[in-house]
Amino acid sequence: MPRVLFFNQTGLYGGAERSLYDLVTNYPGHCRVVLMQAGPLYDDLITAGVDTPVLGGGFQRATRRKWITLTIRLYSPIVVAIGLVRLSRGYDLIYANSMKAAVIAVLTKPFHRRKMVWHLRSLLIPEHFSPLARLVARWCGNWGADLVIANSDATARAYQSNGGKCLPVRAYNGFSIEKFRPEKRAELRAQLVVEHGLDPTHPIIGMIGRIGPWKGQALALLGLSMGTDWQLLVVGEALFESENFRQDFHESATRYTQTCNVFCLGHRDDIAEIMGGVDVVIHASTLPEPFGRVIVEAMLAGTPVIATNGGGVPEIVQNGVTGRLITPNSATALATAIEAALRETEQSRSMAVAARRYAEQHFALELTLPPVWQALRTMAAQSDGTENAPAVAAGAHESSIKG
Ligand code: UDP
Repeated sequence: MPRVLFFNQTGLYGGAERSLYDLVTNYPGHCRVVLMQAGPLYDDLITAGVDTPVLGGGFQRATRRKWITLTIRLYSPIVVAIGLVRLSRGYDLIYANSMKAAVIAVLTKPFHRRKMVWHLRSLLIPEHFSPLARLVARWCGNWGADLVIANSDATARAYQSNGGKCLPVRAYNGFSIEKFRPEKRAELRAQLVVEHGLDPTHPIIGMIGRIGPWKGQALALLGLSMGTDWQLLVVGEALFESENFRQDFHESATRYTQTCNVFCLGHRDDIAEIMGGVDVVIHASTLPEPFGRVIVEAMLAGTPVIATNGGGVPEIVQNGVTGRLITPNSATALATAIEAALRETEQSRSMAVAARRYAEQHFALELTLPPVWQALRTMAAQSDGTENAPAVAAGAHESSIKG
């Protein structure tokens, strides 16, 4: 296997970092992870025995003087770039796990001279990115990346519509399915009730995920107000948002917690248990989601799921078969779907059983990782000039590897 240097911008956990942890800790060869900032991901990688240097971490903070902050912010990528070149010695390829990481890896390519993989986990569409950011992304993919991996067909399509020349290898996020215990749902529900002082006779709705302007928490609160006795658990934290957004969210969350049946639990690590303990999981992103890990997690937990139809979501949930898909941005559609999920108990139960089976068959780590390893092997073999390089794995999306 090639020696891989994984490169990511943050040590905080979003979906991309959860997936990175799985990639790194299951990598069947030598690897190292370089982060631009410490955080829980860093702690977990160190605990798992992974070599994880942090570059430029001390340069993230803001100061009272704007010009000092600006100078620090401009200086920081240079420190990171120099560090990356130094740390990449002895590695066959750099695996950029985020857009910022990809930009730095591409800009420094003349110096590190490594092959570069870009694991694209964002939809390159106007709703998510400015024209300049999409231009940079196009340049990164076409001129810097030797292999692009996309986390869904929707992400791959958006990449090409943005002017990307190659067809990315599609690799879905994978999950440790043994963490999820659908047979324990009643027990997990009872635990949640006790832990948060819930009313066991009233429905418990779970909304799990990073808090953000397009993640749909505001829409969920609106939808919730249309039900009479629903209790909503909001799980997650505003990780990558501005300080203003974070403050606003916490103020309104406190207000709702005091007046409605809304319980804001903040960031939690026991997601499998929470998913298994609620009656319905809702996903209400107002913009298309590149993939949507929380949807697969709900399916694995055996919990009925309602999700916004857009982006990569319809690749995960088949409407009416493994869950309910709703129109984006409609609190009424959300409330109607919740009401149906709670009323049509038999249908909801059989959809949840089908969903668990489907998720096991398509999103287990054992199934999603081998195509990625195969693509890396192929690329490394090409870079060595080895003849008869292995083809990209069966089951992987048709790929185009440059170079
Ligand atoms: N997550 C978590 N604790 C929380 C909230 C979210 O561990 O309090 C996890 C969640 O289980 C999922 C990931 O964060 O694995 C979010 O990934 P997703 O693709 O749903 O959204 P993203 O953060 O990538 O936009």
